[in-house]
Formats: sequence, C-alpha cells, structure tokens
Amino acid sequence: MTKKSRTDKRSKSGAQTECPICKKMLRGAKGVKMHMDERHADQRANAQAGAK
Ligand SMILES: [Zn+2]
Repeated sequence: MTKKSRTDKRSKSGAQTECPICKKMLRGAKGVKMHMDERHADQRANAQAGAK
C-alpha cells in the first residue's frame, strides 16, 4: 500500500465555519460543535441560556 502523506483534499472549501470563541476555522457547523465540545465545553454551556 502506498501511503501518501500529502493528500490534502481541499476541493471544496466552502463549508468552513468560524468558531465564535477562538476564531478557528472548522468544517461546517458539525465541526464547530465538536470543537466547542472539546475546547470550549464550559463556554458552550454558558452560551446556552439556563443550561445549568
Ligand atoms: Zn474555538
């Protein structure tokens, strides 16, 4: 098997969403949600009114 390390598939870069907290570019709203869960779990809870 030939493993290509530089297989950067960047054909469609239109599904990029910016994280409102750290301004990191992520892939779609789903990516942002997952990113927030890992990086901004506490801040994400804060965004939800009446989460706690
Ligand atoms: Zn972020």
